[in-house]
Amino acid sequence: MQILTSPASLSEQCRAWHAKGEQIALVPTMGYYHQGHEALIQRGRTLGDRLVVSLFVNPTQFGPQEDLAAYPRAPERDAQIAEKLGADILFMPNAEDMYSQAHTTWIEVPKMASTLCGASRPGHFRGVCTVVLKLFMLSQANVAVFGEKDWQQLMIIKRMVEDLDLPIKIESMPTQREADGLALSSRNVYLRPNERAQAAQIRAALLKAREAAQAGMVDILALRELVLEHFAQFMPLAKADYLAIVDPYSLDELEHADGPALMACAVKLGKARLIDNILLRQ
Ligand code: AMP
Repeated sequence: MQILTSPASLSEQCRAWHAKGEQIALVPTMGYYHQGHEALIQRGRTLGDRLVVSLFVNPTQFGPQEDLAAYPRAPERDAQIAEKLGADILFMPNAEDMYSQAHTTWIEVPKMASTLCGASRPGHFRGVCTVVLKLFMLSQANVAVFGEKDWQQLMIIKRMVEDLDLPIKIESMPTQREADGLALSSRNVYLRPNERAQAAQIRAALLKAREAAQAGMVDILALRELVLEHFAQFMPLAKADYLAIVDPYSLDELEHADGPALMACAVKLGKARLIDNILLRQ
């Protein structure tokens, strides 16, 4: 596995592979690997002749009050994992490599980025789309893999790819979870033991909502109430940032969950902001 830090070296290597007719798969990450990342990397391995994994804690997707400085990092361990799982390149640029002093170009998908996480993280998806497009261009990947845990991100990236006619296929992987249901996240390390014990209730509440929806509850207020009551009863340390039911693809808010519907939430628990989602109906 080559470890590359300069965008030009990534571009050069991928161009050479393309010239030989090789298919390139890309898995973008921010590192501190857990089994969610591993599942994406393993999937990526099956999708191309060459696998590029990027590891970049992208500063432009963090707000000024967010956890950029504290974001957990373990680059040596991550490199061992990426190599073991068959990556050909681990691309680990630093911020100055990706953003020159003069950088002024941004990719925005404003409507889809204004809701859910975007409402409390203004500028977040602009940072995500900009860095992801740069990674797509540098790697010239034929396919890229993203996790369904970040559902809004996945839908926004699919929109960007369609809108800009980018020659890349987007694949997704289901959310990987701890045994008690908590979605794996690099940010779970922020949880203290009592917070960690309660964090599993996010999944429990969303499952309860899915069960109710599938039993015929279509009223959005009632479904939200069910979940908020569960949070209040079993997760008293938590504060819901948002809890919404949206069209899974456009992310538009729904009036009734009588067709395809996604319930998504973000919950603050101590220092962690945890997100999760569930398809109430497909
Ligand atoms: P991150 O390093 O947190 O930016 O995540 C990199 C990629 O891994 C993104 O596409 C995420 O959606 C995906 N990912 C993160 N956590 C999980 C998980 N628990 N299950 C599946 N994919 C995940």
